[in-house]
Amino acid sequence: MFNYQALMDLCKKRLDKLSKMPALKSTPLVDNIEQSGINRREFMKWSSLTAAALALPMEFTPMVAKAAELADRVPLVWLHLAECTGCSESLLRADTPSLDTLIFEHLSLEYHETIMAAAGWQAEENLEHALETYKGQYLLAVEGAVPTANNGTFLTVGAKGKTGMAILKEAADGAAGIVAVGTCSSFGGVQAAAPNPTGAKGIHKVIDKPVVNLGGCPPSERNIVGTLMYFIMFGKLPPLDIYNRPRWAYGARVHDNCERRGHFDAGEFVEEFGDEGAKNGYCLFKVGCKGPYTYNNCPTQRFNSGTSWPVLAGHGCIGCSEPDFWDSMSEFEKPLGRRDITSSLDKTSDYIGTAVLGISAVGITAHAVASVFAKKLDEEE
Ligand code: SF4
Ligand code: SF4
Repeated sequence: MFNYQALMDLCKKRLDKLSKMPALKSTPLVDNIEQSGINRREFMKWSSLTAAALALPMEFTPMVAKAAELADRVPLVWLHLAECTGCSESLLRADTPSLDTLIFEHLSLEYHETIMAAAGWQAEENLEHALETYKGQYLLAVEGAVPTANNGTFLTVGAKGKTGMAILKEAADGAAGIVAVGTCSSFGGVQAAAPNPTGAKGIHKVIDKPVVNLGGCPPSERNIVGTLMYFIMFGKLPPLDIYNRPRWAYGARVHDNCERRGHFDAGEFVEEFGDEGAKNGYCLFKVGCKGPYTYNNCPTQRFNSGTSWPVLAGHGCIGCSEPDFWDSMSEFEKPLGRRDITSSLDKTSDYIGTAVLGISAVGITAHAVASVFAKKLDEEE
């Protein structure tokens, strides 16, 4: 039995502080939720699911709800570097806005090139104004890799022709927390695939502050919003794995929670797409699934408001949340025959470690993650 009191006290203190700050948005979250046809009961259900996803006990549910309501006290600056904008699109372009989307929109989004009305000089002024006004308070989210070759000139943004690398460094300087959204900003993504002529890198390679990496192409809305919620609730970034990914989201392999795992263990495989095994929902390892090498919570959190995920839809995982997956996991529809399925993460500092391999009960994994939160807090005191 773990003692969550210290975590609770920290969260209460943080929420008290936020509630005394002025709201940066005029419409309260509850009004937006009602206008979208979502009732209070569904909001509380979302809060309890978010608490569970963050590996927090159910007692945290009212605090998650409170933190969501107070999200408009936290300024968010969102930069776009070398990328396709797919991470933003997947989060914001749902035909039916989910609660994750609504809560993301409730954050005080001070700068986001895709969705803001301003352009050109005015957009640049908006960014400069936000960085100055909220210095030391804002959360910085970055989508896209940073090209570093030729002193960053493969990416220039705006009328002043600043390089993406220079903008990133300026924005990182005054940030209270930095989140790399997606595999491109986390590890370089497709821009960094060999031969990588632009010298594209993950943003942590060019700034000297802690960065939370949300690997995924794209990362799920749950992983983005959950990480932002953690920051709102505790005022700090969550515990991370060796690749700086939040343990609550990337603590277990895709393979460990996959609904096809029983077939893997029984040796029942799809031999080619469309065969009898595919119709029977057999394991996709032989048609290239990289779930055994990939750390992410796709099987438990899923995409599109929790409706499905790639393996459920019939295609193997391509390892999109892992560093260098474009090079190291290809070809995507062929197995990596030579590689041991117990990856280096299992052998080194993966916090759950091999003990959890093969355990598909999410509750057990969540409990293990929560114990790390509590242990880390104890260590910090
Ligand atoms: S190899 Fe892929 S499809 Fe098979 S059990 Fe693992 S994650 Fe699921
Ligand atoms: S199943 Fe694999 S490839 Fe698909 S989103 Fe999850 S980690 Fe990425």
